Amino acid sequence: MIEIVNGTKRYGAVEAVRDVSFRVPEGEIVGLLGQNGAGKTTTLNMLTGYFPPTAGQVLVDGQDMLTHPRECKRRIGYLPEKPPLYDEMTVRSYLRFVCRLREVDGRDMNRHVDEILRICGLWEVAERVLGHLSKGYRQRAGVAQALCGDPEVLVLDEPTVGLDPRQVVEIRDLIRELGKRHTVVFSSHILSEVQQLCQRAVILHRGRLVREMRLNAQEDSDVLRLRLSAAGSERQVLPALKSLPCVRRVKSLPTWDAGVTEAEVECAREDGDRDPRDQLFRLLCALDAPIRQLTPMQDTLEEVFLQVTAAEPPASQEVQSR
Ligand code: ATP
Repeated sequence: MIEIVNGTKRYGAVEAVRDVSFRVPEGEIVGLLGQNGAGKTTTLNMLTGYFPPTAGQVLVDGQDMLTHPRECKRRIGYLPEKPPLYDEMTVRSYLRFVCRLREVDGRDMNRHVDEILRICGLWEVAERVLGHLSKGYRQRAGVAQALCGDPEVLVLDEPTVGLDPRQVVEIRDLIRELGKRHTVVFSSHILSEVQQLCQRAVILHRGRLVREMRLNAQEDSDVLRLRLSAAGSERQVLPALKSLPCVRRVKSLPTWDAGVTEAEVECAREDGDRDPRDQLFRLLCALDAPIRQLTPMQDTLEEVFLQVTAAEPPASQEVQSR
């Protein structure tokens, strides 16, 4: 749906983002993660056509943002880091104003604004001026302006930053709801938020894309990694596990009880039509080493994030300006 290809942005001598490429397929919610200064805002500004990349390309449904800016921007709603709110306007008049900018047909405008007010939970404050609203409502109004014109793609820059815990939950619920009808990209440095909301995470570090991962990768992989705990000695259990054709790797894990084996077991997901877990179950029953625990293992987003952002930055962020 929306894609950045080898996106690079230089601010004078500072290279903020280099060679970043990722695609957000239609209907997905994608989280852009990174520490402060990683290049999230810069990437989102390129993605929305707010400014062009120094090098590289942005495509919206295959159309180039540079050659078709009007068509591409029409399909994107953007909540920038600082929402562009006019404090003296009421919520309703502000949304009507944004609708006019986005060329919403005047005959549809009242219905469209009413729908946005309802979706964003702004109905009760529709006639209040923006300058008098709480931070939570202001953020909702920021999301609401991004919805004007009903764009297919929503790009939200740190939508929950600075909100109190209740407001954070409310905005997250709103994003989840919006994800049912829109393709959503949002930036955050809160890992749990991305884990909860997104199908995919893109991690930036010092201006580079260092990892793109599906957050339900377990289903995609042909390998099933399991944590096993069985009531039997290692001497008895480990060789038996290794003898199973579906088992690729067994790693013993520390245990406090000599009569219990803890292990990480990597199995081929498909072994004919037999689930490898059934085979483990039968094997350990036959050994009289009952299973105490058998759970799928997956690298958490936190583990991956800490690993990929631990690396030293590239030698220099500065590029030759001459
Ligand atoms: P944060 O989470 O703190 O908002 P970010 O991941 O959004 O950070 P960016 O705002 O994209 O990061 O900034 C990336 C790098 O580019 C930083 O080193 C920043 O200092 C630099 N930068 C951003 N805007 C400019 C600018 N207008 N001029 C010069 N350098 C800039």
